[in-house]
Amino acid sequence: MKKIVLVDDKESIGKVVSFYLSKEYDFTYFENPLKAIEWLQEGNMPDLIISDIRMPEMKGDDFLHFLKTNALFKNIPVVMLSSEDSTSERIRLLEEGAEDYIVKPFNPLELKIRIKKIIH
Ligand SMILES: [Mg+2]
Repeated sequence: MKKIVLVDDKESIGKVVSFYLSKEYDFTYFENPLKAIEWLQEGNMPDLIISDIRMPEMKGDDFLHFLKTNALFKNIPVVMLSSEDSTSERIRLLEEGAEDYIVKPFNPLELKIRIKKIIH
């Protein structure tokens, strides 16, 4: 079973995404990137990370930067979740190494399909 991690400060998003993904994937949810980083540094290696952008403890941008500049984690595909459809934000994050960019509110089935296309 492939491992997927979701990082989002809204627990309700965690619950919804878990509902759609946890049958097919080994799904782990964190409410903030610092906890996810701790988990990664313990030796856990997910196949894909989904990350919110606007979070209080650490912004998704900074989390993405951390991942993409770390030799161990830079190859993990990252899908960013944004609360606004901003072209400049999308370009910036895709350039930084994000695999995909999804605007909230999103249809969980669309997220699931996009994930499948990345890690089939
Ligand atoms: Mg948020």
